[in-house]
Amino acid sequence: MEKIAPEVRHIARRLVQHGFDALVVGGAVRDLLLGREPKDYDIATSARPEEVKEIFGRSARIIGRRFRLVHVYRGHTFYEVSTFRREPTTEERKGRVDDDGVMLWRDNAYGTLEQDAHRRDFTVNALYYDPVGDRGVIDLTGGVADLEARIVRSIGPTEVRMAEDPVRMLRACKLVGQYGFRLAPEVEEAIGHLAPQLRLCSPARLFEEILKILAKPWSASTFQTLHEYELTPAMWPGLAEMWDGPRGPELRRLLAARDARVAAGGYSKSRTLALATLAFSAVEAELKGPSDTVLWERRPGLEKPCRAAIQRFFAPFRVPRYLSARARDLILLLPRFFDGRRRGRVLEHPEYKYSRELFSLLCEVRRWDGDLLEGWPPPHSPPGASGRRRNRRRFTRTTGKASG
Ligand code: ATP
Ligand code: MG
Repeated sequence: MEKIAPEVRHIARRLVQHGFDALVVGGAVRDLLLGREPKDYDIATSARPEEVKEIFGRSARIIGRRFRLVHVYRGHTFYEVSTFRREPTTEERKGRVDDDGVMLWRDNAYGTLEQDAHRRDFTVNALYYDPVGDRGVIDLTGGVADLEARIVRSIGPTEVRMAEDPVRMLRACKLVGQYGFRLAPEVEEAIGHLAPQLRLCSPARLFEEILKILAKPWSASTFQTLHEYELTPAMWPGLAEMWDGPRGPELRRLLAARDARVAAGGYSKSRTLALATLAFSAVEAELKGPSDTVLWERRPGLEKPCRAAIQRFFAPFRVPRYLSARARDLILLLPRFFDGRRRGRVLEHPEYKYSRELFSLLCEVRRWDGDLLEGWPPPHSPPGASGRRRNRRRFTRTTGKASG
C-alpha cells in the first residue's frame, strides 16, 4: 500500500483535515493488494460534492447531472472523488425507468460507508483503504478472502444485482480476463441466462467499459472471456462474428501482440490507436487487397468505405465522429509504409505516430520484413501539436498525459 500515489494521500488528508472521512476504494485497492499498479484511483468520502468543491476550489470540478461526483485535479491528472452512497429502496426505484438505458435510480441517495460498500458490484471491488489514518484495509463484504481465492462474487443476491445492471456481467468477465479470477458458480449461472440483457444497456456505458478493456494489456483474454460467456454476441454481434470467422485467429494474435507491447510500454495508450487496432481486420475485409502485403489499393474515394466499415464495426456503441474519423485516417495511412509515396506528407501527418505503431504491430503479426520500418523514424514530438487536435481532452485520469 506504500505504492499509493502521493497525490491521493494529499487529497484524502485535506478532506480529513476538514472533518470528513476519505478512503481509497474499488479497483485501486484491489490492484494494490494484487501487487499491480492501479490505472486510476477512486476516492470515497463522507463529504458532499459541494463540500469537496469548497475545499479544493478551482482544482475541483463537479461533474455529472444525475450522478454527481468531483474531479480533483493535480497537475495533468484528475482523481475521482465521490460521496458515500446507498442503494435506493424498492420504493425509490419504482417507475424510474431509464431514458437512454442508464438507470436513473443508480445514482442518487447519499449514505454511510457501510451502505456504500453494499451498493458496489463485487466483493473484490468493495475494499477500502485508509491512506491517512491507521485503519488499513477496510473489508465489509468479505472481499479480502475472495481476492485471495481469486473469486468474483456478487454483493447481495446475484440474480437481482446482475439483472438490475447487466453491465455487471461484463465487469465480472473483465475480472476473469484481466486477473485470471474465476466466477462464483452463482455468478456463472446468472450470466448463463441473463447474457442477452446486455443489449439493453446504454451504448455509452458499454463503450466506456470497452475503452477501459483496451487501456490495459489483457484485451485478448478479456474479449475471449466475454466471448466464452456469450456476452459478445449480445452486445457486439460484429465482433462475435469476426471472432468466430476466418479473421478471428489473426485478430486475436493482433490483440495479444498489442497487449504485450502495452505491457512493455511500447504501444501508445491512445484511444484512436486502440480502436483502429480493433477495427483493422474489419476495414481490411472491406477494402481487401489482392495479396497479403498490399492491404488495399490506394484509390480516390477510399475514405468513405473505410469510415463506413469502422462505423459498421462499432455500430452498437455510437462512437463519436471525431474518433472514427481519426481511426480512419490512421488506418488509411498504413499502405503508405509499403509504397513510400508522398513520404514527406506521411511524416507530417497528425496520425503518423499511431499509424506507424499499428504498422509495426502488423509487421510482427504477419511476419513482414522488419526492414520495412527502417525508413520511418519514430516521431520526435507528440503528433498533432498542430491545430488538428485542438478539441482533444486535456487531462486523463491518473495515468500519463492525455492521448486521443
Ligand atoms: P478498473 O481497473 O477497470 O478501473 P474498477 O473496479 O476500478 O476497475 P471502475 O469502473 O473504475 O472499475 O469503478 C470503480 C468502482 O465503482 C468499482 O470498483 C466498483 O466498486 C464500483 N462500480 C463500478 N461500476 C459498478 C456497477 N455497475 N455496479 C456497482 N458498482 C460499480
Ligand atoms: Mg477504476
